[in-house]
Amino acid sequence: MQDDSGEGWRNDLRRLLSAWIYILAAALLALSAWATGAATGFAVILFVLLFLLVVFRQLPENDAPDAVPPAAVSAPPPADPLPLILASLDGVDMPIFVLNPDAEMIAQNQSAERVFGTLLSGLHVSTRWRSPGILDMIRETTETGAPNQIEHSERHPSERVYIVRVAQVDPQQTSGQTYFLLSFRDISELRRLDRMRSDFVANASHELRTPLASLRGFIETMQGPARDDAKAKDRFLAIMLDQANRMSRLVDDLLSLSRLELKAHVPPDRKVELGPILGHVRDSLAPLASELGVEIRLDLPEEKIEVMGERDELVEVFENLIENACKYGQDGKVVEVALRKDVGGATEVSVRDHGPGIPAEHVPRLTERFYRVNVEDSRSKKGTGLGLAIVKHILTRHRARLIVKSDLGDGSVFTVRF
Ligand code: ADP
Repeated sequence: MQDDSGEGWRNDLRRLLSAWIYILAAALLALSAWATGAATGFAVILFVLLFLLVVFRQLPENDAPDAVPPAAVSAPPPADPLPLILASLDGVDMPIFVLNPDAEMIAQNQSAERVFGTLLSGLHVSTRWRSPGILDMIRETTETGAPNQIEHSERHPSERVYIVRVAQVDPQQTSGQTYFLLSFRDISELRRLDRMRSDFVANASHELRTPLASLRGFIETMQGPARDDAKAKDRFLAIMLDQANRMSRLVDDLLSLSRLELKAHVPPDRKVELGPILGHVRDSLAPLASELGVEIRLDLPEEKIEVMGERDELVEVFENLIENACKYGQDGKVVEVALRKDVGGATEVSVRDHGPGIPAEHVPRLTERFYRVNVEDSRSKKGTGLGLAIVKHILTRHRARLIVKSDLGDGSVFTVRF
């Protein structure tokens, strides 16, 4: 191996000096032998012998003057990989801490700093996480070198669920340094979606089971005690038809929701005129409105207002909103539907009723599936609890928003803003 660095000439100098030290020592020995009376010949032979010895010892080095000494040929001490580890971890969007074998935090990536704040280097992990699960897991990994992970929840500053994993960096020990990475994968959103899905299935099953149980009950009554009661049978059959219709509405709404979910990210690609859509919805709801004693007033501008949208879906949106206004705002007698462009040029459709209004705490949750301010009230009005969830899905696809304003005792305004 060639020594290309500035070390070459220093080694040469060192070799030259040590050779001259040997020669000098040999000369001194010979001189002292001569001075003590030994024969001059003996001294000269001694001098020559020592000189040859010195030259012989220097030969290998003189033959290969640039050869690197054996000590330098062996592998250089491994570089500390910490700076490289840190540089790579900063690019990872997940909090990661670097620990030493004593479970002390010696560095953290930027994501860890954002999520957990700056932690003092050198502190033991237990100063930040007291969870026995995390500490036992780290202890086991630092002892065995085998990676480990557990699920861990935090309540502060907000409720979060993490998969915490600890693994040794470079388990083969090629770097000569032992570090461990402690990472926190946030699965809170996944958990929330899981919970939502299972709540949804539970709610849907419950909603279907109730009319089903009622149907079964009436069938059994008609087969047994009411077998010969023609009047009771007629009454029961009417109720059964009502329950069957309820189940069918629910199934229709569920199918509608899943269809909408499939195309949630595909915005409509054609223009529709809103005036005729609102006129159509008003006409189709006229029988219900008159049954409830409500008048639907439609306020349309002269100009033709168009938006990017799908006609059938927008009909579903306004049918839901106007039907709700008629059902829940029945006491107010009038439902006002207005289409206009606001000063900023946005298109708005507002549906206002003069009913009892909605308590403020319920307003943010109205578009959740199966959320109802009053379950019995909704059921008695043929509600499924899915209407506003469907509205929200359709509007999201249309890049539109639903704004709800309600004052207790003063009715509600549901505004769709395109
Ligand atoms: P539902 O099928 O029960 O009508 P929606 O999703 O359409 O379900 O509405 C959810 C709940 O919001 C209703 O059950 C009702 O409690 C409340 N709500 C909706 N619109 C109005 C309104 N105009 N006035 C008062 N409450 C309303």
